[in-house]
Amino acid sequence: MRKQIRKEQRRMQRESKVVADFYKSDAWEKTRKAYIISKYGMCERCNSAGVIVHHKTYITKQNIHDERITLSFDNLELLCRKCHNQEHFKDEYGCVFDDEGNPIAPPK
Ligand SMILES: [Zn+2]
Ligand SMILES: [Zn+2]
Repeated sequence: MRKQIRKEQRRMQRESKVVADFYKSDAWEKTRKAYIISKYGMCERCNSAGVIVHHKTYITKQNIHDERITLSFDNLELLCRKCHNQEHFKDEYGCVFDDEGNPIAPPK
């Protein structure tokens, strides 16, 4: 049982490294900056200062090389930290979503 969990953690670490590398890429940095400018640096939900460019379709290892997902303005949303947290932690019960947008149960 424990082994299973560790295997799963390793898989997630590998996956998050692929995603982390994308977020460090020049292509993303350029797209991110251009997108922020196009939205006048304002959170699209509450109009306070936008700091995070969120992917509406979450990035995964499977779609990381699909520029229509990773670099298309259509899939981006400029959010402040608060709205971004709300997006990823949808409700007060702590229901969170995995990278594919599936709800996952809160840790007991
Ligand atoms: Zn906001
Ligand atoms: Zn996000």
